[in-house]
Amino acid sequence: MSEHTRTDGLPGMDAAARPRSERMSSDKIECNACPVLCQISQGRSGACDRYANVSGILVRVDPVLMLRRSLADSEPALVPFAGRVATDGSVLPTQAALSPELALADEVFITGVGSSTTYPDYKPAPFIVASQAAGVDLVTVVTEGIFSYCSFKVKIDTDRYLGPEQASVRCKGEVVGHVTTAEYGSQMLSLGGVHHLTGGSKKEGRVTVEMMAALGNKQAVEFAINGGSQILIQAGRAPVVNGVEEKRMRVGCGSATVGIFAEQLAGIVDEVVVVDDHITGVLTEHQSGRCLDMRASGIRMKGRKSTPGRYFQVANPGTGWGGTDLADPLSIIESWDAGKAWPGLRLLMTSTTGEHAGWYVLDRELRPVEQDMPVEVRRVVERIGENCEPSLSSVLFLAGAGGSLRAGVSQNPVLLTRAIKNALVNVTCGGAPAYVWPGGGITVMVDVMRMPDNSFGTVPTPAIIAPIEFSMKLDDYRALGGHMDHVRSLKDALERGAWHNEGAPSARQWVQQSPKNPWPLGRAPLLG
Ligand code: SF4
Repeated sequence: MSEHTRTDGLPGMDAAARPRSERMSSDKIECNACPVLCQISQGRSGACDRYANVSGILVRVDPVLMLRRSLADSEPALVPFAGRVATDGSVLPTQAALSPELALADEVFITGVGSSTTYPDYKPAPFIVASQAAGVDLVTVVTEGIFSYCSFKVKIDTDRYLGPEQASVRCKGEVVGHVTTAEYGSQMLSLGGVHHLTGGSKKEGRVTVEMMAALGNKQAVEFAINGGSQILIQAGRAPVVNGVEEKRMRVGCGSATVGIFAEQLAGIVDEVVVVDDHITGVLTEHQSGRCLDMRASGIRMKGRKSTPGRYFQVANPGTGWGGTDLADPLSIIESWDAGKAWPGLRLLMTSTTGEHAGWYVLDRELRPVEQDMPVEVRRVVERIGENCEPSLSSVLFLAGAGGSLRAGVSQNPVLLTRAIKNALVNVTCGGAPAYVWPGGGITVMVDVMRMPDNSFGTVPTPAIIAPIEFSMKLDDYRALGGHMDHVRSLKDALERGAWHNEGAPSARQWVQQSPKNPWPLGRAPLLG
């Protein structure tokens, strides 16, 4: 353990540094954890329900979430900090109850969930915890960030048309985001953000912040898209578009689908059209059909020809075949070249997921007539479906941690920014790995499915509360101007809780590390 690690109680705390819980009247105290400065009566909580007045003491209501690598079956879900006053005023268990956990100290990671904070960050972070891994002295700075600059990027695996790019997305009637650039097999939404939190009406800000907390906490949220669909989104679940739960994500665009299955279809069909809102594929014209020496079918397609066998804009976007508005796929065939097509020509039309498929044979007048699909063709259509992944809604939290939050970490905040850019710091959110965007600032992005449940909260400024942790070598922390006199051992942090809440530490809750996540302190640059 480093010489800077204090194990003898709260480090360097004086009266000025202690949480201010001024008595406003006989039974009110002021919470200064955010600029709202609630004056909280005895037995009541503040506007965000995160802090309460318990017998004249300001208490952080939610438990601090602790990650551990292995969770004993007998571990209680909720354990109060030792020797302190519980939210109901009772005295909590003694330190002896902690010993089994302390034996696992190198397997414990304190997350920012429930850790408390101040906003702006005029105090060092509530937990600055020293630990050792592979013989290396590490430190993790833990806080609940309060983010005004934050949003959710939502990826919705569907071909169905949700709405025009740039269209407004509404929640409870308020504009809370917009449709952004579609990606391969997915429609994308950008939701929340500083513009909707602060730039509109008070109601818009309130609805936005509530929507963001719900989405981040993996709850279902309903949206209406201007000129588009109604959609129900829940992280990790299939989206529901206009009341229909999406099942499959496309195997590829129309052209890709033609290419993937060309060999399996050649010989059992004479022509294949894979209907797609973006790129519709036509097998015999497509390079894959040519390579298989397929005879030209003489089909003439509507839409704009891009390259051989690839057509754009064959129909309008919608919730029909392949993300178009088509109920009858034959309507995208303009005609047949009588010099090339022949009676009896076998035509397969399918969507990019195989959910829609039809089998047609040309009659004497070269009109497609629907017939029962042969078994061997049906088998390939089923394989298209088999190759589709389940449709999901993915919700990524994007937030700027490059502002005042850094003051809780360092006395010279730009050094934290530089250390992160130099890969000296592992940034996690509730123990989940965060991607840090290149360029200026500390813009982090994290998959909410990798974060603990209920990681997000709100304050009525309005802003979003989210956990964030910065782990690094102790020497690097010292070099970046860290609050070295607030570094505490894990044992001390476990026993006493956040120094912000000394006198009334909140409870703690243990959760097992998600198998999807690497151990936050196990990253090679920290230990190498
Ligand atoms: S909104 Fe919450 S954090 Fe802000 S002052 Fe009130 S109780 Fe404290």
